[in-house]
Amino acid sequence: MGFADLHIHTLYSHDGTATPAAVLKYAAHHTDLDVIAITDHDKIRGALEAQEMAGKYAIEVIPGIEVTSAEGHVLALWMQRDIPAGLSLAQTLEEIGKQGGLAIAAHPMHRAAHGLSAAAIKSALQDPNLAQILIGIEVFNAGLIIQRSSNRHAQTLANGLPLAQTGSSDAHTPFMLGAGRTRFSGYTAKDLHSALQTQNTQAVITRNVLGIAVLADWLWLYAMRAAGLPLHNPAPEVSLRFSRQTV
Ligand SMILES: [Zn+2]
Ligand SMILES: [Zn+2]
Repeated sequence: MGFADLHIHTLYSHDGTATPAAVLKYAAHHTDLDVIAITDHDKIRGALEAQEMAGKYAIEVIPGIEVTSAEGHVLALWMQRDIPAGLSLAQTLEEIGKQGGLAIAAHPMHRAAHGLSAAAIKSALQDPNLAQILIGIEVFNAGLIIQRSSNRHAQTLANGLPLAQTGSSDAHTPFMLGAGRTRFSGYTAKDLHSALQTQNTQAVITRNVLGIAVLADWLWLYAMRAAGLPLHNPAPEVSLRFSRQTV
């Protein structure tokens, strides 16, 4: 079984703290994740940078975006370029589909974090074309600071829907990487793509970090960013670990 963290932010998010290289380095040194998705708010640039460097770290990167649709946040995975923020959920899913991407409802029903409502998700699933694109729902998001009961509500909603269930960190600092993760059969991004489409994934809670600890960790790194000192690790010359596919 492989493990993926499908919801990670870098400095390219207004509220991110770490460079793409720092994210990759931390993931390689301190987690056993096989695949990560970089999903900055409405920007793919950090994900593309990370994807370019990923080989050095023996970890696969899925280029993604956390898209701000008018109805709430949607994780767009396997993307190639930005799509506009503020479109309706249906238009957003269509744009993701045009690029051959797949979508996951991020922290559904979390009001402060602008999650999709249950009604918006159900309504999208009634359209057979959109249902091919919206294939997953985040049932555990480790990065929520408040209203963490929305994870329970998301799980209850997901149990009645034909969607792959995912767990993610929603990391805005490297420390949070892998705190929530998605288990799938296989180890590669390609394996994960099939697992998501056949609803063969499970959400795993690795570390249920208290909201106050998430906030404290973010605050000092965000202060460093604001002071012009973002967490930065240059890419090393050699790979930091052996890929699980080669052992
Ligand atoms: Zn979000
Ligand atoms: Zn996020």
